[in-house]
Amino acid sequence: TRTYIVTGSASGIGAATAAILKERGNTVIGVDLRNADVEADLSKPEGRSAAVAKAVELAGGNVDAVIACAGISAPAPITVAVNFFGVTDFLTELAPTLAKSSAPRAAVVSSMASLQPNSPELVEAMLAGNEEEALRIGQALADNGPQTGYLNYPSSKRALSRWVRRESITPAFAGAGIPLNAVAPGTVVSAMTRDLLSTPEGRAMVDANVPMPLNGHSDPEVIARLLVWLTSEENTHTTGQTIYTDGGADATLRGDDI
Ligand code: NAD
Repeated sequence: TRTYIVTGSASGIGAATAAILKERGNTVIGVDLRNADVEADLSKPEGRSAAVAKAVELAGGNVDAVIACAGISAPAPITVAVNFFGVTDFLTELAPTLAKSSAPRAAVVSSMASLQPNSPELVEAMLAGNEEEALRIGQALADNGPQTGYLNYPSSKRALSRWVRRESITPAFAGAGIPLNAVAPGTVVSAMTRDLLSTPEGRAMVDANVPMPLNGHSDPEVIARLLVWLTSEENTHTTGQTIYTDGGADATLRGDDI
Protein backbone atom coordinates (compact mmCIF):
# COMPACT_ATOMS: atom_id res chain seq x y z
CA THR A 1 0.00 0.00 0.00
CA ARG A 2 1.01 3.61 -0.55
CA THR A 3 1.32 6.59 1.79
CA TYR A 4 -0.39 9.83 0.73
CA ILE A 5 -0.29 13.32 2.19
CA VAL A 6 -3.56 15.17 1.48
CA THR A 7 -4.02 18.86 2.32
CA GLY A 8 -7.50 20.25 2.90
CA SER A 9 -8.42 16.79 4.21
CA ALA A 10 -11.10 18.04 6.63
CA SER A 11 -13.65 19.07 4.02
CA GLY A 12 -14.92 18.81 0.45
CA ILE A 13 -12.55 17.52 -2.25
CA GLY A 14 -9.70 16.78 0.19
CA ALA A 15 -12.00 14.80 2.51
CA ALA A 16 -13.44 12.83 -0.43
CA THR A 17 -9.93 12.09 -1.73
CA ALA A 18 -8.73 10.90 1.68
CA ALA A 19 -11.81 8.68 2.03
CA ILE A 20 -11.32 6.97 -1.36
CA LEU A 21 -7.62 6.40 -0.72
CA LYS A 22 -8.31 4.85 2.71
CA GLU A 23 -11.11 2.69 1.31
CA ARG A 24 -8.55 1.29 -1.13
CA GLY A 25 -6.17 0.37 1.68
CA ASN A 26 -3.71 3.27 1.50
CA THR A 27 -2.28 5.23 4.41
CA VAL A 28 -3.40 8.87 4.41
CA ILE A 29 -1.91 11.72 6.42
CA GLY A 30 -4.35 14.61 6.38
CA VAL A 31 -3.31 18.26 6.74
CA ASP A 32 -5.80 21.01 7.56
CA LEU A 33 -6.42 23.93 9.91
CA ARG A 34 -8.46 21.63 12.20
CA ASN A 35 -9.67 18.02 12.37
CA ALA A 36 -6.60 16.56 10.70
CA ASP A 37 -3.54 14.43 11.53
CA VAL A 38 -1.43 17.53 11.00
CA GLU A 39 -3.06 20.80 12.04
CA ALA A 40 -1.32 23.70 10.35
CA ASP A 41 -1.98 27.07 8.72
CA LEU A 42 -0.77 26.86 5.12
CA SER A 43 -1.27 30.61 4.63
CA LYS A 44 1.98 31.16 6.56
CA PRO A 45 5.53 30.10 5.57
CA GLU A 46 6.15 28.76 9.12
CA GLY A 47 2.91 26.77 8.96
CA ARG A 48 3.91 25.18 5.64
CA SER A 49 7.35 24.08 6.87
CA ALA A 50 5.96 22.79 10.16
CA ALA A 51 3.27 20.85 8.27
CA VAL A 52 5.81 19.23 5.93
CA ALA A 53 8.06 18.24 8.84
CA LYS A 54 5.20 16.78 10.91
CA ALA A 55 3.65 14.92 7.95
CA VAL A 56 6.98 13.37 6.94
CA GLU A 57 7.56 12.36 10.55
CA LEU A 58 4.12 10.69 10.77
CA ALA A 59 4.88 8.91 7.49
CA GLY A 60 8.10 7.54 8.94
CA GLY A 61 9.97 9.28 6.13
CA ASN A 62 8.19 7.30 3.39
CA VAL A 63 5.82 9.40 1.28
CA ASP A 64 4.58 8.10 -2.09
CA ALA A 65 2.30 10.93 -3.13
CA VAL A 66 1.05 14.37 -2.18
CA ILE A 67 -2.35 15.78 -3.14
CA ALA A 68 -2.82 19.48 -2.34
CA CYS A 69 -6.51 20.39 -2.06
CA ALA A 70 -6.51 23.12 0.63
CA GLY A 71 -7.83 26.37 -0.78
CA ILE A 72 -10.12 29.34 -0.15
CA SER A 73 -12.01 31.82 -2.32
CA ALA A 74 -11.97 34.99 -0.18
CA PRO A 75 -11.71 38.27 -2.16
CA ALA A 76 -8.47 39.00 -0.31
CA PRO A 77 -4.74 38.25 -0.50
CA ILE A 78 -4.98 35.33 1.94
CA THR A 79 -6.39 33.47 -1.06
CA VAL A 80 -3.03 33.92 -2.82
CA ALA A 81 -1.16 32.81 0.31
CA VAL A 82 -3.15 29.56 0.65
CA ASN A 83 -3.97 28.66 -2.98
CA PHE A 84 -0.57 29.42 -4.50
CA PHE A 85 2.23 29.60 -1.90
CA GLY A 86 0.47 27.14 0.43
CA VAL A 87 0.62 24.61 -2.42
CA THR A 88 3.91 25.42 -4.18
CA ASP A 89 6.03 25.81 -1.01
CA PHE A 90 4.48 22.64 0.40
CA LEU A 91 5.25 20.60 -2.74
CA THR A 92 8.72 22.05 -3.18
CA GLU A 93 9.65 21.18 0.39
CA LEU A 94 8.22 17.67 0.05
CA ALA A 95 9.78 16.87 -3.33
CA PRO A 96 13.11 15.49 -2.00
CA THR A 97 11.24 13.09 0.33
CA LEU A 98 8.80 12.10 -2.43
CA ALA A 99 11.69 11.38 -4.78
CA LYS A 100 12.74 8.46 -2.55
CA SER A 101 9.50 6.56 -3.37
CA SER A 102 9.58 3.93 -6.13
CA ALA A 103 6.48 5.56 -7.69
CA PRO A 104 6.24 9.17 -6.52
CA ARG A 105 3.34 11.36 -7.66
CA ALA A 106 1.99 14.86 -7.00
CA ALA A 107 -1.29 16.57 -7.86
CA VAL A 108 -2.94 19.88 -6.96
CA VAL A 109 -6.38 21.43 -7.32
CA SER A 110 -6.59 24.41 -9.66
CA SER A 111 -9.96 25.61 -11.02
CA MET A 112 -11.76 26.54 -14.20
CA ALA A 113 -11.44 30.01 -12.65
CA SER A 114 -7.84 29.89 -13.91
CA LEU A 115 -9.41 30.83 -17.27
CA GLN A 116 -11.33 33.82 -15.89
CA PRO A 117 -10.09 37.43 -16.04
CA ASN A 118 -7.22 37.91 -13.59
CA SER A 119 -4.44 40.31 -12.62
CA PRO A 120 -1.40 39.53 -14.82
CA GLU A 121 0.80 41.56 -12.45
CA LEU A 122 -0.33 39.44 -9.52
CA VAL A 123 0.15 36.21 -11.49
CA GLU A 124 3.72 37.27 -12.35
CA ALA A 125 4.56 38.14 -8.73
CA MET A 126 3.42 34.67 -7.67
CA LEU A 127 5.40 32.91 -10.39
CA ALA A 128 8.46 34.96 -9.42
CA GLY A 129 8.09 33.46 -5.94
CA ASN A 130 7.72 36.93 -4.43
CA GLU A 131 5.08 36.37 -1.76
CA GLU A 132 5.49 39.79 -0.16
CA GLU A 133 4.89 41.59 -3.47
CA ALA A 134 2.02 39.25 -4.39
CA LEU A 135 0.27 39.93 -1.06
CA ARG A 136 0.76 43.68 -1.57
CA ILE A 137 -0.86 43.55 -5.03
CA GLY A 138 -3.63 41.30 -3.73
CA GLN A 139 -4.35 43.74 -0.88
CA ALA A 140 -4.47 46.70 -3.29
CA LEU A 141 -7.03 44.79 -5.38
CA ALA A 142 -9.07 44.05 -2.25
CA ASP A 143 -8.93 47.70 -1.16
CA ASN A 144 -10.54 48.65 -4.48
CA GLY A 145 -13.70 46.70 -3.67
CA PRO A 146 -15.08 43.15 -3.84
CA GLN A 147 -15.03 42.94 -7.63
CA THR A 148 -11.31 43.57 -8.00
CA GLY A 149 -10.73 41.75 -4.70
CA TYR A 150 -12.21 38.63 -6.29
CA LEU A 151 -9.32 38.69 -8.82
CA ASN A 152 -7.17 37.17 -6.06
CA TYR A 153 -8.90 33.83 -6.69
CA PRO A 154 -8.63 33.39 -10.49
CA SER A 155 -5.11 34.87 -10.34
CA SER A 156 -4.06 32.30 -7.73
CA LYS A 157 -5.37 29.45 -9.89
CA ARG A 158 -3.89 30.77 -13.14
CA ALA A 159 -0.50 31.06 -11.45
CA LEU A 160 -0.87 27.57 -9.95
CA SER A 161 -1.65 25.95 -13.33
CA ARG A 162 1.35 27.73 -14.89
CA TRP A 163 3.60 26.73 -12.00
CA VAL A 164 2.57 23.09 -12.50
CA ARG A 165 3.38 23.33 -16.19
CA ARG A 166 6.82 24.89 -15.60
CA GLU A 167 7.79 22.84 -12.57
CA SER A 168 6.67 19.47 -13.98
CA ILE A 169 9.62 19.31 -16.38
CA THR A 170 12.36 20.34 -13.94
CA PRO A 171 14.97 18.05 -12.35
CA ALA A 172 13.03 18.22 -9.05
CA PHE A 173 9.93 16.64 -10.62
CA ALA A 174 10.40 15.03 -14.07
CA GLY A 175 14.05 14.37 -13.26
CA ALA A 176 13.04 12.64 -10.04
CA GLY A 177 10.32 10.60 -11.78
CA ILE A 178 7.44 12.57 -10.26
CA PRO A 179 4.41 13.29 -12.47
CA LEU A 180 2.92 16.67 -11.39
CA ASN A 181 -0.57 17.69 -12.53
CA ALA A 182 -3.54 19.88 -11.67
CA VAL A 183 -7.25 19.12 -11.76
CA ALA A 184 -9.55 22.04 -12.57
CA PRO A 185 -13.11 21.61 -11.28
CA GLY A 186 -16.12 23.60 -12.42
CA THR A 187 -18.66 24.13 -9.63
CA VAL A 188 -18.38 21.54 -6.86
CA VAL A 189 -20.96 21.26 -4.09
CA SER A 190 -18.85 21.78 -0.94
CA ALA A 191 -18.45 24.12 2.02
CA MET A 192 -16.80 26.61 -0.34
CA THR A 193 -19.91 27.00 -2.53
CA ARG A 194 -22.72 26.07 -0.10
CA ASP A 195 -23.84 29.65 0.69
CA LEU A 196 -23.60 30.81 -2.90
CA LEU A 197 -25.63 27.84 -4.18
CA SER A 198 -28.31 28.19 -1.48
CA THR A 199 -30.19 31.03 -3.20
CA PRO A 200 -31.62 31.17 -6.76
CA GLU A 201 -29.73 34.45 -7.38
CA GLY A 202 -26.44 32.94 -6.21
CA ARG A 203 -26.94 29.84 -8.36
CA ALA A 204 -27.80 31.95 -11.42
CA MET A 205 -24.65 34.03 -10.93
CA VAL A 206 -22.44 30.96 -10.57
CA ASP A 207 -24.00 29.20 -13.56
CA ALA A 208 -23.65 32.27 -15.79
CA ASN A 209 -19.90 32.29 -15.08
CA VAL A 210 -19.38 28.52 -15.00
CA PRO A 211 -21.62 26.85 -17.61
CA MET A 212 -21.72 23.06 -17.08
CA PRO A 213 -23.77 21.48 -19.91
CA LEU A 214 -22.57 17.97 -18.95
CA ASN A 215 -24.25 16.78 -15.73
CA GLY A 216 -24.17 20.17 -13.92
CA HIS A 217 -22.54 20.79 -10.53
CA SER A 218 -20.37 17.92 -9.32
CA ASP A 219 -19.87 16.22 -5.99
CA PRO A 220 -16.36 16.32 -4.48
CA GLU A 221 -15.94 12.58 -5.25
CA VAL A 222 -15.88 13.35 -8.99
CA ILE A 223 -12.74 15.43 -8.56
CA ALA A 224 -11.29 13.04 -5.98
CA ARG A 225 -11.41 10.06 -8.36
CA LEU A 226 -9.24 11.87 -10.93
CA LEU A 227 -6.78 13.04 -8.26
CA VAL A 228 -6.51 9.43 -7.11
CA TRP A 229 -5.77 8.21 -10.62
CA LEU A 230 -3.22 10.96 -11.34
CA THR A 231 -1.30 10.00 -8.19
CA SER A 232 -1.60 6.22 -8.74
CA GLU A 233 1.15 3.99 -10.10
CA GLU A 234 -0.88 3.76 -13.33
CA ASN A 235 0.01 7.35 -14.21
CA THR A 236 3.50 7.19 -15.65
CA HIS A 237 3.47 9.82 -18.43
CA THR A 238 0.78 12.43 -17.80
CA THR A 239 2.50 15.52 -16.41
CA GLY A 240 2.31 19.32 -16.47
CA GLN A 241 -1.39 19.21 -17.30
CA THR A 242 -4.39 21.04 -15.95
CA ILE A 243 -7.25 18.63 -16.52
CA TYR A 244 -10.64 20.32 -16.61
CA THR A 245 -13.21 18.18 -14.82
CA ASP A 246 -15.84 20.82 -15.24
CA GLY A 247 -18.92 19.49 -17.04
CA GLY A 248 -17.89 21.29 -20.23
CA ALA A 249 -17.22 24.76 -18.78
CA ASP A 250 -13.77 25.02 -20.41
CA ALA A 251 -15.04 23.69 -23.75
CA THR A 252 -17.90 26.21 -23.62
CA LEU A 253 -15.89 29.26 -22.59
CA ARG A 254 -12.60 28.66 -24.38
CA GLY A 255 -13.95 26.85 -27.41
CA ASP A 256 -11.24 26.36 -30.05
CA ASP A 257 -8.75 28.59 -28.25
CA ILE A 258 -6.44 25.84 -26.94
P1 NAD B 1 -13.74 23.20 1.22
O1 NAD B 1 -13.91 24.54 1.82
O2 NAD B 1 -14.77 22.17 1.46
O3 NAD B 1 -12.32 22.59 1.63
C1 NAD B 1 -11.14 23.34 1.68
C2 NAD B 1 -10.30 22.91 2.87
O4 NAD B 1 -9.08 23.68 2.86
C3 NAD B 1 -10.98 23.16 4.22
O5 NAD B 1 -11.00 21.99 5.01
C4 NAD B 1 -10.14 24.25 4.84
O6 NAD B 1 -10.06 24.20 6.26
C5 NAD B 1 -8.77 24.01 4.19
N1 NAD B 1 -7.95 25.22 4.32
C6 NAD B 1 -8.32 26.49 4.00
N2 NAD B 1 -7.37 27.37 4.36
C7 NAD B 1 -6.37 26.64 4.92
C8 NAD B 1 -5.12 26.99 5.52
N3 NAD B 1 -4.72 28.27 5.64
N4 NAD B 1 -4.34 25.99 6.00
C9 NAD B 1 -4.74 24.70 5.92
N5 NAD B 1 -5.91 24.32 5.36
C10 NAD B 1 -6.72 25.28 4.89
O7 NAD B 1 -13.60 23.50 -0.34
P2 NAD B 1 -13.41 22.51 -1.60
O8 NAD B 1 -14.48 22.83 -2.56
O9 NAD B 1 -13.19 21.11 -1.18
O10 NAD B 1 -12.06 23.12 -2.18
C11 NAD B 1 -10.91 22.33 -2.40
C12 NAD B 1 -10.10 22.93 -3.53
O11 NAD B 1 -10.89 22.91 -4.72
C13 NAD B 1 -9.71 24.40 -3.32
O12 NAD B 1 -8.37 24.58 -3.75
C14 NAD B 1 -10.66 25.14 -4.24
O13 NAD B 1 -10.12 26.37 -4.67
C15 NAD B 1 -10.82 24.16 -5.36
N6 NAD B 1 -12.01 24.37 -6.18
C16 NAD B 1 -13.27 24.29 -5.62
C17 NAD B 1 -14.38 24.49 -6.43
C18 NAD B 1 -15.78 24.44 -5.89
O14 NAD B 1 -16.72 24.76 -6.64
N7 NAD B 1 -15.98 24.06 -4.65
C19 NAD B 1 -14.21 24.75 -7.80
C20 NAD B 1 -12.94 24.81 -8.32
C21 NAD B 1 -11.84 24.61 -7.50
